[in-house]
Amino acid sequence: MTIQEFVNVGAKTTMKIGGSARYFAEISTKEDVEEAQRFAKKKDVPLIVLGAGCNTVFADGTIDALVVQVKTSELFFMEDQVTASSGIALASLITACADHDLDLSALTGIPGTLGGAIVGNAGQGPQGTWINSFIVSVCAFVDGDWKYFEPEECDFGYRESIFKTLPHAIVWTATLRLPQKPKEKILGNVQELLEKRIASQPHRSTAGSCFKAIDGTPAWKLIDEAGLRGLTVGGIQINEKHANFLINANHGTFTDLLSLIETVRDKVPALDGIEMRLYGEDGEIVNV
Ligand SMILES: Cc1cc2nc3c(=O)[nH]c(=O)nc-3n(C[C@H](O)[C@H](O)[C@H](O)COP(=O)(O)OP(=O)(O)OC[C@H]3O[C@@H](n4cnc5c(N)ncnc54)[C@H](O)[C@@H]3O)c2cc1C
Repeated sequence: MTIQEFVNVGAKTTMKIGGSARYFAEISTKEDVEEAQRFAKKKDVPLIVLGAGCNTVFADGTIDALVVQVKTSELFFMEDQVTASSGIALASLITACADHDLDLSALTGIPGTLGGAIVGNAGQGPQGTWINSFIVSVCAFVDGDWKYFEPEECDFGYRESIFKTLPHAIVWTATLRLPQKPKEKILGNVQELLEKRIASQPHRSTAGSCFKAIDGTPAWKLIDEAGLRGLTVGGIQINEKHANFLINANHGTFTDLLSLIETVRDKVPALDGIEMRLYGEDGEIVNV
């Protein structure tokens, strides 16, 4: 594992906001994971794990942390189960599973890695299917030890899991049990879901949904009712196609993003939960 200094991590996220990490490394083995933890401890900086950066936004300036990006993609199939590395793209996993007549198509269109999906319990909206419904076990490095988590131990909820609360936990592999279905049917569903997404959501310069739904009411509806669709603060805009997607429309900054979130909250105070993961210059989650 090579540790680099002052690497532009903002560029590694889909929203393309944010500055450089004090330390950065790609990790691909269990030894890398252990070494990264030791390094962060020795330098006394937080360790931030990055999947594909589809749900992550970094502060402008220097992030005083070790940012590690997971670069793994191993898969192992056994009957109706697949054990996959956390670095694999969810889209690649869905396709590979279809090749084995295993159906993970319900999660089609969610960008990012398996690890990111587990940490944020990714899914299709508050009423849709979430990844936790397929999880058999998760292997993660926590507090200096490798540990297997049963689904009940993962504390999955709407866009939540225990891995968001365990400091510096690294999700490494997961085993999923999937419904068996002919490949053609699975790919048909994939195509249908992708078309729906393209029609209803932007897919560039965004980190996905910003606010969490409230008691099943989608956040976009409340933002829309408040007349905020299209509102722009600095370089960040509430998307015209989907009012819960914030877009980096024109060289937006972290400060612009926080201001826009605050503006929305002023009008719709009920939107108190955030789906995106915002990291400050101290390497900690910014609680907005
Ligand atoms: C266009 C678009 C549409 C989206 N639609 C949806 C949707 O329908 N449903 C949905 O749920 N999400 C959606 N998202 C958000 C995003 O795709 C998901 O949250 C996805 O699971 C993030 O994966 P990632 O690998 O990019 O995670 P990252 O952004 O890299 O990381 C997200 C969080 O997980 C942590 N993390 C990532 N990998 C690991 C790991 N291996 N170990 C420990 N921690 C880790 C990070 O530290 C960070 O806190 C959308 C995003 C975009 C851009």
